Amino acid sequence: MPNAENNKKKLFIKTWGCQMNVYDSRRMADILRPFGYEVSEEPEDADMMILNTCHIREKATDKVFSELGRMRRLKDKKEAEGGQMLMAVAGCVAQAEGDFIIERAPYVDLVFGPQTYHELPEMIAKLTGAYGQDRIVSTELDTQTKFDALPEENNKQGVTAFLSVQEGCDKFCTFCVVPYTRGGEFSRSVEQIVNEAKALIDNGAREITLLGQNVNAYHGEGKDGKTWTLPLLIEELAKLDGLDRIRYTTSHPRDMDMALIEAHRDIEKLMPYLHLPIQSGSNKILKAMNRKHERDMYLDIIADLRKARPDIAMSGDFIVGFPGETDQDFEDTMDIVRQVKYASGYSFKYSARPGTPAANMTNLVREDVKAERLAALQNLINEYQLDFNTKCIGMTMPVLFDRADKAGDKLHGRTAYNQAIHVPGPARLMGHSANVIITGAFANSLTGTLELQESVLKSA
Ligand code: SF4
Repeated sequence: MPNAENNKKKLFIKTWGCQMNVYDSRRMADILRPFGYEVSEEPEDADMMILNTCHIREKATDKVFSELGRMRRLKDKKEAEGGQMLMAVAGCVAQAEGDFIIERAPYVDLVFGPQTYHELPEMIAKLTGAYGQDRIVSTELDTQTKFDALPEENNKQGVTAFLSVQEGCDKFCTFCVVPYTRGGEFSRSVEQIVNEAKALIDNGAREITLLGQNVNAYHGEGKDGKTWTLPLLIEELAKLDGLDRIRYTTSHPRDMDMALIEAHRDIEKLMPYLHLPIQSGSNKILKAMNRKHERDMYLDIIADLRKARPDIAMSGDFIVGFPGETDQDFEDTMDIVRQVKYASGYSFKYSARPGTPAANMTNLVREDVKAERLAALQNLINEYQLDFNTKCIGMTMPVLFDRADKAGDKLHGRTAYNQAIHVPGPARLMGHSANVIITGAFANSLTGTLELQESVLKSA
């Protein structure tokens, strides 16, 4: 391993997409740190630039190429001055379009998918060292090897941290590229996850969100050598001193079993907030999407969750304008929102992803109809979100503070329901929980005041 101190290099990573990508970008930095790479917020003069891409959004590939065009100018400038800048494309667009990127962007040195970034040091050595390799495309889908190779000790994320426990998907929703870009479902072992959680806690984490494309399909090797599911994993993590809060995302309704529902009742550290996508409220559209569940099953799960943990707050994902969606189908989605009364929600217009079954469907919904439906849905979700937040006014809630402003007299934190909250208070409360009286509510945040200011300050 090279001497990192004598060999400092700048690493710039631009990340698109979900928390899994944010996690992956951090881990790329962890892997490269011992080789002298320090993360820089600015792309100028970087020695290595990585665009960690997402394939979910519309025109994802076009966006990558337009960003590459901008970044290329920086590479050209550095090379004109006699330097070297390695340019890499990572993530799901890299996985899906690796060869196309290499062909169309000759200045890109390296293309690698979500399951091969642990090989970054070797890939860089091949590009810069005696091998003299020109360019590399690395898009294997072996998840096991990646997790075995990730360093545990470097993982510094702060008060709230993310920990990848599961990757990939076997569900094959007809609109989604994930099963093709991330591969089949894979779960890390409990031992590996607990070790990583301990390292995060040692580095200041008080809240850990367990990540997975289908996180509640988790089925990793447990401490007894048997297969453990997510509730068992959560129970084990809840035993760790110093860890106050556990969350998990993203879940699929089909994997929401009673043991997991009861974990929300029994495990105090498991926060009363769940993101559970449904995508559509119409059984006909759910079938066309190959979601493998119906609306009643989804509503039954939520009823069971609320029985187990009456204050649980729900969040969901919705797609409007899927091929064949009629006014009535869309009304069924609006009805789900009214029944569930989400505390937050994410909604998108359907757009075809090349290579997915839905991309070949006919009976497309007109763009103006999609836009109209999306606006109506978002208005409705926002109403419930504001209503949920407004009902919190006057309550006293524990808040975990994760940021202080520059002046040091205002804090940012999160409630148990994952609401962002701003509170006047001293910076030394960062990383601590304190009770806050909620005084104001907006669509996306709350305001409040510390309940026991004096005693909290003394104990902090
Ligand atoms: S469950 Fe469906 S939407 Fe979620 S990752 Fe798998 S295929 Fe994609």
